[in-house]
Amino acid sequence: MADLKLTNVEKTYGGTVNVLKDINLDIQTGELIVFVGPSGCGKSTLLRMIAGLEKITGGELKIDGEVMNDVPPAMRGIAMVFQSYALYPHMTVRDNMAFALKLAKKSPQEIDEAVNRAAKVLQLDEYLDRLPKALSGGQRQRVAIGRSIVRDPKVYLFDEPLSNLDASLRVATRIEIAQLKESMPNSTMIYVTHDQVEAMTLASRIVVLANKGIAQVGSPLELYERPENEFVAQFIGSPAMNLLAGEIVNTGEVTEVKVHDGAGTIMANIPTTEADQGLAVNVGIRPEDMVATTGENYAFADEVSIVEALGEVTQLYFAAPSSSADTDTVIAKLPGIHTDVRGKKMTLTADPSKVHLFADGQSLLYR
Ligand code: ADP
Ligand code: MG
Repeated sequence: MADLKLTNVEKTYGGTVNVLKDINLDIQTGELIVFVGPSGCGKSTLLRMIAGLEKITGGELKIDGEVMNDVPPAMRGIAMVFQSYALYPHMTVRDNMAFALKLAKKSPQEIDEAVNRAAKVLQLDEYLDRLPKALSGGQRQRVAIGRSIVRDPKVYLFDEPLSNLDASLRVATRIEIAQLKESMPNSTMIYVTHDQVEAMTLASRIVVLANKGIAQVGSPLELYERPENEFVAQFIGSPAMNLLAGEIVNTGEVTEVKVHDGAGTIMANIPTTEADQGLAVNVGIRPEDMVATTGENYAFADEVSIVEALGEVTQLYFAAPSSSADTDTVIAKLPGIHTDVRGKKMTLTADPSKVHLFADGQSLLYR
């Protein structure tokens, strides 16, 4: 059981290279928090500062109300699982899992109990007497997790634990981690990934890191439905949200936006005031929220340049004229199979409840 509090945490490498600043975050006991963001945004750095493997150069980290900044890693009650799991090759699964407990001079009975309990949770009971080389990649990763579970830590830290596994094993192991978390409702876990699908499927709350700071914190669906800024809007969801440049032509409870380049107008269920009249905005529409229309009001009309039929959905690509869109392509993801639309003109719109509006990169919902 542990909660964490980060206050104005920052990291500057070598006294000059600032990679993180103004990190403020409260993590409650029992949460599975996922840090997600593009490569190099500081996810590992933040995790390693929490673990004590990297010095915190500004701000404060508390675990259970105690300041941890200068507490050595072994005294923080934390266990960390890395991307590359180095098991001892000449030791059985049981001995790999027992190793830290032996070092800590626990009694043989205590060690046995802890290892058996962890093996059960991780469904490794049958493999306890095998060597690592006789295990699959997913099983080895589970042993690596087992080595942290036996120590009964207050906080588990995972740094991209699945990125060395192939695609199908990644999904299977992801589900196992979700089940593992369910079997330990009072343990606090922080999980780092660059993969937004992993973040969406595992997290109780996601922390999106970008530009040295936190872009947004929220539940997976909060981030999907109510992104605070264009970065989060385009990072969560795949393919990324389309952004179309336009201007507000009617304000009120519902806002009407004229999309540039001769497209029609589109309505958004986002309240605006008279002062917003004429405001330059980006209209955000997720590919899966695009719908074909024959009406006069629409967000976008163009010829389909590429068709990707995936079976359950078809992804249609349009080469967006650069003046009308903030992205090079506009993508529509329509349910079912549409193979005969290449080169044909389509007119697309979206339900007003699915339309996002951003000014200067920030959502109008959060003003
Ligand atoms: P992520 O895990 O999100 O991919 P990292 O936390 O590993 O990112 O790195 C964040 C930034 O800090 C990167 O720009 C990286 O080059 C830089 N960095 C990481 N470790 C060091 C170091 N020891 N010295 C200097 N810069 C570092
Ligand atoms: Mg990393």
